[in-house]
Amino acid sequence: MHQNPSLRVFYSDYCVVPMPEKHRFPMHKYALLREYLIDNDIVPELCMIPAPMADVATVCTAHDKAYVERFMLGKLSAKEERRIGIPWSEAFVKRTMTSVGATVSALHTALRTGVSGALSGGTHHASYDMGGGFCVFNDLAIAAQVYLEAHPDGQVLVVDLDVHQGDGTALIFENEPRVFTFSMHGGANYPFNKVASNRDVGLSRSAGDSEFLDLLAAELSKLETMEPTLILYQAGVDGLQSDKLGTLNLTQAGLLQRDELVMRFARSLQAPLVITMGGGYAEPIDDSVEAYANTYRALRGIYGI
Ligand SMILES: [Zn+2]
Repeated sequence: MHQNPSLRVFYSDYCVVPMPEKHRFPMHKYALLREYLIDNDIVPELCMIPAPMADVATVCTAHDKAYVERFMLGKLSAKEERRIGIPWSEAFVKRTMTSVGATVSALHTALRTGVSGALSGGTHHASYDMGGGFCVFNDLAIAAQVYLEAHPDGQVLVVDLDVHQGDGTALIFENEPRVFTFSMHGGANYPFNKVASNRDVGLSRSAGDSEFLDLLAAELSKLETMEPTLILYQAGVDGLQSDKLGTLNLTQAGLLQRDELVMRFARSLQAPLVITMGGGYAEPIDDSVEAYANTYRALRGIYGI
């Protein structure tokens, strides 16, 4: 067994959410990923911590209190619930709060060790007072706010490489100069009305590895000058060619190189890195799970932990 005293990742799949039969959100992928990471000795079980639930005050650092309360109490309107796309249940509340808790815990860990991750999160479509696209609360935005409260002179960079644009994060921080939102995504993907991030790169349909990686390397080199003191990475794998929601044509090897680019970038700037999962809807779902696991293969390689 590996000894990884400084590797800690946080999971929330121990809260099981009942899903309607044939629902298109693959809720089981989280537990599959954790199993895969353990079975393949990518992240040893002793490095995995069940995430604590975030408290309401923490969630409210990035969200409207009335919206948070409506969700907590099961009082969302039918329209609000439809936008989120996952039916409300008490278990879903608990899961949502542990998912935020996972990212906030990963933040605190990364500030000590340089890198950490949540085996959940990346819920970037949630904005200040609205959910959307399977996202209730925006864990990236909450982590950024928690960080900035403790480090008011900090500069946060959100690197969002999910195939879907990070519209919720962009909206929450549109007037916050201490958070720079960078989103590289499929231009033809949801959300169809994009919100301007600080930097958006929309890729054309079927863009492949070389186009993606060349653009990413160029974009990251431009971002060096902003000297981020924290990087929040939305490492969605729905750009994979077998993803049923994504319009891009990335391979497993391409996504692995993508992760390595981001991690080398963070390391070279000595900026703590927090990794969240983001989207993955491949058929079979094992393809998404493998891609998520490769993010941690990359982490072990780049950080040597
Ligand atoms: Zn996505």
